[in-house]
Amino acid sequence: MQRIGHLVGGASAGSFDRVGPVFDPATGTKTGEVALADIAEVDAAVAAARTAATGWARTSLSRRTDLLFALRRVLDDNRDELARALTAEHGKVHADALGEVARGIENVEFACGLGNLLKGGMSSRVSSQVDVHELRQPLGVVAGITPFNFPVMVPLWMAANALACGNTFVLKPSERDPSAPRLLGELVHEAGFPPGVFNVVNGDKVAVDRLLEHPDVDAVSFVGSTPIARYVYETGTAHGKRVQALGGAKNHMVVLPDADVDLAADSAVSAAYGSAGERCMAISVVVAVGDVADPLVEGIEERIADLVVAPGSDPDAEMGPLITREHRDRVAGHVAGAADAGATLRVDGRDHAVADVGHGDGGFFLGATLVDHVTPDMEVYREEVFGPVLSVVRVDTFDDALALVNANPYGNGTAVFTRDGGAARRYTEEVEVGMVGVNVPIPVPASMYSFGGWKDSLFGDSHVYGPEGIHFYTRTKVVSSRWPSPESSTVDLGFPRND
Ligand code: NAD
Repeated sequence: MQRIGHLVGGASAGSFDRVGPVFDPATGTKTGEVALADIAEVDAAVAAARTAATGWARTSLSRRTDLLFALRRVLDDNRDELARALTAEHGKVHADALGEVARGIENVEFACGLGNLLKGGMSSRVSSQVDVHELRQPLGVVAGITPFNFPVMVPLWMAANALACGNTFVLKPSERDPSAPRLLGELVHEAGFPPGVFNVVNGDKVAVDRLLEHPDVDAVSFVGSTPIARYVYETGTAHGKRVQALGGAKNHMVVLPDADVDLAADSAVSAAYGSAGERCMAISVVVAVGDVADPLVEGIEERIADLVVAPGSDPDAEMGPLITREHRDRVAGHVAGAADAGATLRVDGRDHAVADVGHGDGGFFLGATLVDHVTPDMEVYREEVFGPVLSVVRVDTFDDALALVNANPYGNGTAVFTRDGGAARRYTEEVEVGMVGVNVPIPVPASMYSFGGWKDSLFGDSHVYGPEGIHFYTRTKVVSSRWPSPESSTVDLGFPRND
């Protein structure tokens, strides 16, 4: 059984006085134990980051650029190993895991342009003899607290830009799948980053609370569920830190009557059931407008029948298990609740999960589930289910669809499927959601833009990665300099001398 500890100052650490279990979700067997840091262990990680901070902030742009290019190479060389570590503890299928690693690497590629990204402004002679220029400086020590569902990509959303900007970093990954982020830490060191620049401390609420109150932590990036995001934002800012906290989601895909129904059905299936629905950008509600509802629901149902549910390591698998037994049971409870509330179970994943899987009932599997005739008062609609459950809400008009999406407390992602440019324009302009797709079901912004939702999906005013990441991980200083005019220079500049 493996024991997963911390990585502090470039060395392994971890007393293992307190541990948490790590499972293979495909079999349900315990495969390891993760160290859960106490306050002293968190303090040691922050101290290592603080010690490294001054030297790292003063490291030249060209050296930092070299190291980011080296990190890009090392990550590229280890795509498969990272993806396998990810599948083993998260459960997502290998292709999804490789996709996650690829999206993480894109953030390193963006950060490789730090020379351009960190340029400040300059104004010459704002008054006689006075020039003004802007310095963009790092904050110091940044803590990154990340969720279970993207244990490689989300740390890279944060760390690539934080390090590029000259900060040092303490990562507190999810305790449920800690091996991949631990491996990521080792690869950062393999790339040549100095000890202490990137640290990993594993743990639970004890570690999070210590990071939120530690006087040497300057900023906190958090990604996770909405209640914890709100708590992290309120606690971190109360302790004087800069905080961005991304929360949960309930993403709607609006399908208008003129949409390409095949495209919409394909998109709904991949966006609802990919990674077993454990994605903050997963589509969990299809809003079918008017006559499109029947053919769309039939199309989704047909496609579900072909979906291969199997352990993520199986090359044929299209959907793996959920992260824990408790979570699987919670999601199954939502399916039962929807039926009790009067919705129609078109496909009940509780029925076919184990039979399809053929690997006994040890794994945390739930088959793809399609619930029709859902209404907004039902719990399956109101709650973030975070599993392979797609609800269909039928409405009569475009306006009904828009009003439904805008009434939802979350505002992470949404999509509209239509062939009509005017409808697409009106939807993108009026919807109160941070990331919008037009005939694109999961509109995750490319790394040169920034990722973030609105309303209860984000606490703070900065989105993560891209330009807003650079903004979040730096502060600007404006310097006004007065130098005597060239005429009074002691160097002979060819002017007539006063003396
Ligand atoms: P989570 O909120 O349970 O955990 C996230 C982090 O917070 C983990 O590191 C965990 O150890 C820590 N944590 C958990 N409980 C805590 C507590 N009581 N006090 C302090 N820290 C605590 O989230 P999760 O289950 O790991 O991830 C799934 C959630 O993350 C979903 O809600 C999903 O929508 C969300 N998510 C959002 C985004 C986004 O970009 N908006 C991206 C990925 C995941």
